[in-house]
Amino acid sequence: MGYLRGFMEFSRQDQATRDPIERIKDWEEYTIRLDEDELQKQGARCMDCGTPFCHTGVSFNQSDIGCPVNNFIPEWNELVSEGDWQHAFERLKETNNFPEFTGRVCPAPCEGSCTLAINDDPVAIKTIENEIIERGFENGWEQANPPKVRTGKHVAIVGSGPAGLAAADQLNQQGHTVTVYERDDRAGGLLMYGIPNMKLDKETVERRVELLEAEGVTFICNTSVGEDITREQLKADYDAVILCTGSQQHRDVPADNRDSQGIHFAMDYLKDSTKALETDPNQASIHARGKNVIVIGGGDTGADCVATALRQECNRVVQFGKHPANPEERDDNNPWPLFPMTFKLNYGYEESVEAYDEDPRQYEILTKAFDTDEAGNVKSLRTVRVEKVEENGRLVTKELPGTEEVWEADLVFVAIGFTGPEHEVLDHFGLELDERGRIWTVDGTNDYRTSEDHVFAAGDARRGQSLVVWAIREGREVAEQVGDYLTIEREQLTS
Ligand SMILES: Cc1cc2nc3c(=O)[nH]c(=O)nc-3n(C[C@H](O)[C@H](O)[C@H](O)COP(=O)(O)OP(=O)(O)OC[C@H]3O[C@@H](n4cnc5c(N)ncnc54)[C@H](O)[C@@H]3O)c2cc1C
Ligand code: SF4
Repeated sequence: MGYLRGFMEFSRQDQATRDPIERIKDWEEYTIRLDEDELQKQGARCMDCGTPFCHTGVSFNQSDIGCPVNNFIPEWNELVSEGDWQHAFERLKETNNFPEFTGRVCPAPCEGSCTLAINDDPVAIKTIENEIIERGFENGWEQANPPKVRTGKHVAIVGSGPAGLAAADQLNQQGHTVTVYERDDRAGGLLMYGIPNMKLDKETVERRVELLEAEGVTFICNTSVGEDITREQLKADYDAVILCTGSQQHRDVPADNRDSQGIHFAMDYLKDSTKALETDPNQASIHARGKNVIVIGGGDTGADCVATALRQECNRVVQFGKHPANPEERDDNNPWPLFPMTFKLNYGYEESVEAYDEDPRQYEILTKAFDTDEAGNVKSLRTVRVEKVEENGRLVTKELPGTEEVWEADLVFVAIGFTGPEHEVLDHFGLELDERGRIWTVDGTNDYRTSEDHVFAAGDARRGQSLVVWAIREGREVAEQVGDYLTIEREQLTS
């Protein structure tokens, strides 16, 4: 350990952020990198606590403990504190294929499990991770490194989100020939057409895809498996197929007049606004300028809609959530080292507070109906307040009498999550699903074989709606299993 008392001498400094009033005038990333001196101090705050939890990566009680890709965090914190960025980069790349994605968008369960977080602010792990990889690109340490030998085995990956990209990277490095099929026009999955540009610049996604191409991975976009190419073709042309198709079957609001004009799924809005950045953001086909916007759904997808509507100069934006606000401090049932469920002012909310003088969030509220004008356009929402009560040992949502309200709106986004993977491609493959409609795999944890021979599954399609870092982990693990499968098959053929 390089610096013994860093955690006592330096306070936490996370990535700086651009002025909220300024940044909502453009679509650039909202964070600013720290300088060398500050970064070294942040690395030096790591206590090298002996039994670190930050890297453990386990799910417990529906919460994450530590980093799901098991990053060697204390090691690279120390290297950064000594200014040895190249070795920090090499250690980081041992466990994480795409630190430039997690360094920007990961909710950082590692920090919730940092030992320092028991009685102080955690080490700024995510900020350090992002800096290491950006320096890796700037200094040419991260560059195309194609495998020296090819095995002659061919793998098809369906879906180019973080799970598909991680699996492609790992299998390509093993020498297998990898082709990724993607139905969208650009690779990246939700990294490209879900997470908005101000959180993750699309050039960052393209930079990685281009690197994978230079290493020998083939991307075939605008191709929907099950429609443009069949299961029979894939199974005939490839030694293994991995389905990484995500979990994007929309959950809808069961309210009267749901089919009114002006009500959209959040994903359609976010994708449309990202696509418009390629030409003219003002020409997005769903545009919030001057409109009263309501986002139904209190999660991160809803928060991204809030930030997008602010950049499109909406008149006002309100976000409905059905849960109460998180407490300022951890509850007794959410102790360290679990992921802290505490109140946060994320980037979009901070922008709304600064620009409109109001936090857009409304808690414990349920949409009952939409009202429309004569032309069928939505004009308001009728709501009721709710609370969670225990009934027969279960928490149920109860409507509170006398709390009815009417909210003016001419644009509504439905952001209440996804029910599971879209079934078309799964039906096409004739796959078994589990009780929650996800792709069934052999033992549900680290065995990625599906009910079909030669066909594997990973990422949100198997795990359910999750995080980028979990998708990367699943991509790495499925690649290891497919690599073994191809090797064993090859040995059997040659014996
Ligand atoms: C709006 C939004 C914001 C988010 N923000 C964050 C965040 O800040 N941090 C975080 O950690 N996580 C975030 N998430 C979650 C995260 O993006 C996902 O958990 C992750 O992308 C899942 O990766 P995946 O590879 O399994 O699937 P996806 O990223 O969903 O990719 C699946 C891909 O498969 C393609 N596909 C599907 N069917 C076919 C077919 N038949 N043929 C060809 N291609 C097909 C799809 O077009 C898609 O590109 C967010 C999710 C959303 C919706
Ligand atoms: S990937 Fe996420 S959990 Fe892991 S070190 Fe980075 S920010 Fe932390």
